[in-house]
Amino acid sequence: MHTLHQAYIDGAFVPVMGSEVVECINPATQALIGTVTLANREDAKRAIAAAQRAQVALGRTTKAERIDMLLRLQAAVLASTEQIRDSAIEEYGAPFARAQWVSQYASQCFASAAQTLRDYELVRPMGSATVFMEAVGVAGLIAPWNSTAGTICSKLASAIAAGCASVIKPSELSALQTQVLAQALDRAGLPNGVFNILLGRGNDVGDEISTSPHIAKISFTGSTSTGKLIAHAGIETMKRVSLALTGKSASIVLDDANLDTAIPLALNAAFMNNGQACVAGTRLLVPRAALNNVIERVKTFVGAMVVGDPHDPATAIGPLVNQAQYDRVQGFIRRGLEQGATLVIGGEGRPAGLEKGYFVKPTVFADVSNEMDIAREEIFGPVLSILVYDHEEHAIDIANASPYGLQAYVFSQDQKRAERIASRLEAGTVLINRIVPELLAPFGGVKQSGVGREFGVFGLEAFLEAKTVAADAPLLT
Ligand code: NAD
Repeated sequence: MHTLHQAYIDGAFVPVMGSEVVECINPATQALIGTVTLANREDAKRAIAAAQRAQVALGRTTKAERIDMLLRLQAAVLASTEQIRDSAIEEYGAPFARAQWVSQYASQCFASAAQTLRDYELVRPMGSATVFMEAVGVAGLIAPWNSTAGTICSKLASAIAAGCASVIKPSELSALQTQVLAQALDRAGLPNGVFNILLGRGNDVGDEISTSPHIAKISFTGSTSTGKLIAHAGIETMKRVSLALTGKSASIVLDDANLDTAIPLALNAAFMNNGQACVAGTRLLVPRAALNNVIERVKTFVGAMVVGDPHDPATAIGPLVNQAQYDRVQGFIRRGLEQGATLVIGGEGRPAGLEKGYFVKPTVFADVSNEMDIAREEIFGPVLSILVYDHEEHAIDIANASPYGLQAYVFSQDQKRAERIASRLEAGTVLINRIVPELLAPFGGVKQSGVGREFGVFGLEAFLEAKTVAADAPLLT
């Protein structure tokens, strides 16, 4: 049993002042595995004040000093890779391979940010002026539950590279992962207050961070509805706001695609992280003539997917995070049937043999139109919709007919053709014949999938502000 009641503030683990206690349930067994006392607004104020104090010195550090901090963080997180992986499996049922990847990615973020900073010109002549790229100030980093270590480390790495102290608010559903990660980050031995971490409710701790006049920048990852609240809250103090939000990605299979490779990739894109991924490719667009062939392949591939214990490396799909998410996904499956879609595989209820745990059958629908809820809304579970198209333009129209635009996938043996389609898609990222992201390239959404970009140079610049200094003679510094 875990009993968590501390926040990490000003370089130390301290008891929270909040009093709300929530239970941690293992989603694979529904067993109670711990309790966590949430922080409150007073804790948030303490964390913000600590970050403000740290900002003074951090904002004046040299590139070399910040690179040193990033490398120390990388080493500390790398040393905790296994604990980070195991906490993600225990707390939200991440399948082993996914948890392994995210835990390795968490340390890699710091190495990538160090490399980006090394190559980045913080001072540049422009006309008769000199431009200094300075830290924007104290940052609030707010994360969702579906990729805790990855999201926090990626945001923290960019913030430190830029010289921003931070207040980190992970999801209240990520207590164990947060604890393991905070202990790892603490071992890097950075100056007190450079980063502070506290678990609390969004409308309490999250709101305190989003409205505080002492926070200059918010980097948020989560749902579009929460992103809108944060953008509204930030306007009063003119915060710089980056929002990485909801997705409803399309996977377009072109008529010349090699289905032997394209369908497994597209299905992995749909069901990654138990379908709880913002970049999940949950709308599969196939040429009308290929539909029956695709359906047969989908039945075979999905029918062979192992659903069950997320600790087992053979498991493709673990449980959903909690009862609420289970109920929500069941509701979408029901609505898919009610609105006239045809069930290809899966359906309502738990998979056979899994009586406990928030397990959902991997479910695929055909005869889906873009007007149905299952094609329009982010389900955040292993539910895929197959839509047919008649020609390339039709496929592009269907893909773009969404309020979201995070990521898209194109499968074709003609790369030039796939690139032409990529140029027409309304998405922050388009992956061609692959589902693995490029972590040095910018990541973010268009339309209601977000504002701003993370990773690499774009991620660094999201925490920097340009200051122009011009004199009537060349600068002497
Ligand atoms: P959420 O929006 O419910 O919560 C995200 C975070 O915001 C949590 O820490 C929550 O406590 C906090 N929060 C809630 N209300 C707040 C408020 N009023 N002020 C400040 N903070 C507040 O999202 P979730 O359910 O945790 O995560 C799932 C969502 O995140 C999905 O929509 C998914 O697509 C999205 N997501 C996007 C990306 C991306 O990179 N675009 C990555 C992962 C997840």
